[in-house]
Amino acid sequence: MAQGFDKLTLNDLEVRSRRVFVRVDFNVPLRDGVVSDDTRIVASLPTLRHLVEKGARVVLASHLGRPKGVDPSQSLRPAALCLAARIGKPVAFASDCIGPVPLAAVAALADGEILLLENLRFHPEEEKNDDDFARALASLADIYVNDAFGSAHRAHASTEGITRHLPRCAAGLLMEKELAYLGNAVEAPMRPFVAILGGSKISGKIDVIRNLLQKVDRLLIGGAMMFTFLRARDHATGRSLVEEDRIPLAKSLLDGDGAEKIVLPIDTRVARSVDGSDAGMMTSIHAIPPDRFGVDIGTESIRRFVQEIERARTVLWNGPMGIFEVPAYAEGTLAVARALAAATSNGATTIIGGGDSAAAANLAGVVSAVSHVSTGGGASLEFLEGKTLPGVAALHARR
Ligand code: ADP
Ligand code: MG
Repeated sequence: MAQGFDKLTLNDLEVRSRRVFVRVDFNVPLRDGVVSDDTRIVASLPTLRHLVEKGARVVLASHLGRPKGVDPSQSLRPAALCLAARIGKPVAFASDCIGPVPLAAVAALADGEILLLENLRFHPEEEKNDDDFARALASLADIYVNDAFGSAHRAHASTEGITRHLPRCAAGLLMEKELAYLGNAVEAPMRPFVAILGGSKISGKIDVIRNLLQKVDRLLIGGAMMFTFLRARDHATGRSLVEEDRIPLAKSLLDGDGAEKIVLPIDTRVARSVDGSDAGMMTSIHAIPPDRFGVDIGTESIRRFVQEIERARTVLWNGPMGIFEVPAYAEGTLAVARALAAATSNGATTIIGGGDSAAAANLAGVVSAVSHVSTGGGASLEFLEGKTLPGVAALHARR
């Protein structure tokens, strides 16, 4: 059973006229004091609309960036404006997240009204999971809802500590959806189940590879991490990004249990530099020139990967196939993204995790054509490693 399904959810709560503290993930990029990408705010709308419609008094809290103490450039105020525009009603803002300012602001809320608190991380106690700070946050509300999947892998005061001080602690709709998609994919996938892993480093994803190898039918490897695997197979990789100290580990994966499930690229695009000034050329993995960088998977590999994705009934993708930020090196990544979209329309469940992969999906225009794009980079990776997420574990069980 997927993590989270035995937890309280919004439907278990009686929220009318109650103060509901909702931990959201409004860790959005700002440019000139304006939210420049509101994907995460939009992702929270189903939960917020539900609570507003049910007449809750909604108190929102989030972190933004990594401020050292109070830092006006990392204020959440722009997020309040952005949310107000998206949800179509005013969003009040409290210039602090604990103490008399938010207490007064919460007391002024009528049923169905929304208040956003200032950046939780203006207080170092948030990340320390300080119990007094958690209690101060809890004093603003009657009920707790966690909809910040992207922060659930951290045991902080607003994701973990606070759940000790409120009687009902439930998962929001986004949290539930993330856990349902990722959990079902890993624990009860329709088969064939194909995972595609890429991105820059094998080191950050070793435990994901290990865990997924036990679950999938095929594991396709692209991105820079392919070159560490190729070195483990004694291929020359030119100037491609290789984690020398991880070559033995790649070797042990290629020789260990489930190794027959691993599909490595058979060709690659190589270029003289990585900045796009050289569009590069295709080469077999047996003939990578010593002075070139591997920047993308090659044509034949794309064909093979797309075939595997077409056959799959569950597809999980994390990590771009190449340096997709450079248009000349984006072919493999875009092809994988489109293959996921095509598989979805043929009935497969398709899931994209990872911040850069989500950006690539956006670039390919497939965000609404796949089953689910996870909003939680680090959290989705830890989930796929098979770890328990403290922010999920802390939610209260349904009785
Ligand atoms: P995600 O955020 O989806 O988990 P990662 O952060 O692991 O993905 O990796 C994304 C980065 O990997 C991108 O910036 C991309 O340019 C880089 N990358 C992919 N392939 C290569 C390659 N062959 N050489 C160098 N960098 C690569
Ligand atoms: Mg990334």
